[in-house]
Amino acid sequence: MSMNLQEKTWPQIEDYLKTKKHILIPVGSTEQHGPTGLIGIDYLSAWEIAKAVGEKTKTLVAPPLCFGMAVHHMAFPGTITFSPLTYIQVITEIIQSLGRHGFNKFTFINGHGGNIAPLTTAFCQAKQHNETYDINLFNWWHLPEVTAYEAEHFGKENGFHATCGEISVTMFTHPEAYKDIPAMDFKPTQERPHWPMSPQEFREVFPDGRMGSNPRLSSPKHGEMLFNLAVDSICHKME
Ligand SMILES: [Zn+2]
Repeated sequence: MSMNLQEKTWPQIEDYLKTKKHILIPVGSTEQHGPTGLIGIDYLSAWEIAKAVGEKTKTLVAPPLCFGMAVHHMAFPGTITFSPLTYIQVITEIIQSLGRHGFNKFTFINGHGGNIAPLTTAFCQAKQHNETYDINLFNWWHLPEVTAYEAEHFGKENGFHATCGEISVTMFTHPEAYKDIPAMDFKPTQERPHWPMSPQEFREVFPDGRMGSNPRLSSPKHGEMLFNLAVDSICHKME
């Protein structure tokens, strides 16, 4: 049974809140992922993982926040970003909205590294409004089961952005979208530079948008394995 908030009615949410006050919130970004990765990878991966965790644990799942803090990707067409301060405010108000209805446990499933700093700042803001809130964050690609799998199968070529792991996950969840994307060979990119970078600095250092990855190693099969590892790991940690 779907646990998606957007597929429920308000009386169903009121009923849910009588026994459970926990909600999963998938967050990601709409940003370039190199020449062969989908622009939606960060929110699509977080959303699919959250939906599966929600079904397995019978926990309600909020609609995904498709946009994040992706200022440094703005030199690539298709990227949409909030400024850091706006993102902090958006996250704070999502927690406040849900909190007003009686939710008091918020588990964020995140697909984008640039969101981590503003997310944790927003959690401090929300906690200042209501000290009883229990707020948790899972950056799915940081889960130890996920990083171990990536180290074994991709090694250093997993990279830091447009990684083999995240591209694989969406090859598994959205195979149709990859049908029209031709395979390419990739040369290594520069090392991870001084951070933060402006959009133009990023594009100069990483001209095709990748950071250290070789997306050629990605596959739907790896994606299925990584997806299941992330779902099982989060379910286990939520017990
Ligand atoms: Zn990404």
